[in-house]
Amino acid sequence: MMKMRRFYIDGRWVASRATAEQVLVDATTEESFGVVALAGDADVDAAVAAAKKAFPAWAATDPAARLTFVEKMREVHLIRTEDMAKAISQEMGAPIDLARAAQAGAGPRHMANFVNAMKGFDFVRPLGDHAPNDRIALEPVGVAALITPWNWPISQITLKVAAALIAGCTVVLKPSEIAPLSAIVFAEIVEASGLPAGVFNLVNGDGAGAGNRLATHPDVDMVSFTGSTRAGIAITRAAADSLKRVALELGGKGANLVFADADEMAVERGVRQCFVNSGQNCNAPARMLVERPIYERSLETAARVASSIVVGPSSQPGPHIGPVVSGRQFERIQGLIDTGIEEGASLVAGGPGRPAGFDRGYFVQPTVFADVANDMTIAREEIFGPVLSIIPFDGEEEAIAIANDTPYGLTNYVQSQDGERRNRVARLLRSGMVEMNGQPRGAGSPFGGVKASGRAREGGRWGIAEFMDVKSISGWG
Ligand code: NAD
Repeated sequence: MMKMRRFYIDGRWVASRATAEQVLVDATTEESFGVVALAGDADVDAAVAAAKKAFPAWAATDPAARLTFVEKMREVHLIRTEDMAKAISQEMGAPIDLARAAQAGAGPRHMANFVNAMKGFDFVRPLGDHAPNDRIALEPVGVAALITPWNWPISQITLKVAAALIAGCTVVLKPSEIAPLSAIVFAEIVEASGLPAGVFNLVNGDGAGAGNRLATHPDVDMVSFTGSTRAGIAITRAAADSLKRVALELGGKGANLVFADADEMAVERGVRQCFVNSGQNCNAPARMLVERPIYERSLETAARVASSIVVGPSSQPGPHIGPVVSGRQFERIQGLIDTGIEEGASLVAGGPGRPAGFDRGYFVQPTVFADVANDMTIAREEIFGPVLSIIPFDGEEEAIAIANDTPYGLTNYVQSQDGERRNRVARLLRSGMVEMNGQPRGAGSPFGGVKASGRAREGGRWGIAEFMDVKSISGWG
């Protein structure tokens, strides 16, 4: 049994002052493999105090020197890839190859993107030729609390930590209580990079305890949060009394608009993308909207592709999908599959219960529903599992109406070989991101949403701007 009872505060590993702990469970075996201490108020207060003390010197550090620390962190991160991959795979169940390449690999990738984005970035810039003595200065917000989820743990941690540090903020990271292992490896990486004490602090803890303490803390200037819409609302309320900045990256229920003129691989691509990471992605294309002339053919493709997706243990190498994160999540997904059947959607692949050959582990069958109406529960709620809902449509206008008829607005997808149509539809979709014809968005492009998906932006220059205040100065000499 692993026992992790220490937090990284003020440049040192210190024992938790609280007694509460969280049991960690392996999603493949359902067996517990460790415990992690859950920070209490005194732990959080110590971390915030360290970040507050370190802030003035860090904010005054030359931005180029701050970038050098992030570059150093990237170097150490690359050396620790294997440790990171194993930690992620064990804590949240990602198959080891996915954990190594996409999950652990995201950390160094984000760091490199931030360093590139900041080349030539002016922290002090002129307002314009009409006001020669005015300057706009971009200054760090202060102490930033970073609260992250478990599904892409290191991607989310790096997007916040690296951006905040480059901006000149000092930070207290509180990762998901379900995924503390990767955060501990990350803190070791930060320690090895030689960052000054107090600039980065780590406490493990849960939402109601450490998370809420950070959100209400008078010495925390900003909360950057990624997680559920439910927790985003709770944090916004908790942060209101101290008027801190709140940046929210929340859930999604992305639509994938497949027009009749889509390329041949569009449906297969959409199905596979929905099931990546066992469907535990805020930007999953979870509603596939298919134009009527190609609807029946698309259902056959979707059923064939879903049935060919292999489900397997986290530790096994290969391109299979792993279990979902927890027993609670497994039960919730099963409940939503049952609701889909009860509400009249047609099951074309997968369904309730574990895949054949599994009698334990949080394994879910890759499941495809057809004839889904957009007001059914499975079309409205974020399922966060390998479940795809296919909805037919007639014409562009109806497709856009269905896509936008959701509380969420994170990523939508468009498949069509008509460039003018793609451009038109992209502008009419209410979401922070639109990905078309399977082309990934470029490095350094901002990640974030609108509506119930939150309005933060992460990655590239936008991600760093989140952690800065704008100061407007006249009379500059
Ligand atoms: P969650 O909201 O349950 O937990 C996320 C984090 O918030 C954890 O660290 C948790 O301890 C903390 N937390 C929970 N309640 C809190 C409270 N009241 N006050 C302070 N902190 C609190 O989410 P999760 O289950 O870990 O992650 C899945 C969710 O995250 C999904 O909804 C997914 O869509 C979303 N997500 C969004 C993005 C994005 O960029 N938009 C990326 C990944 C995941």
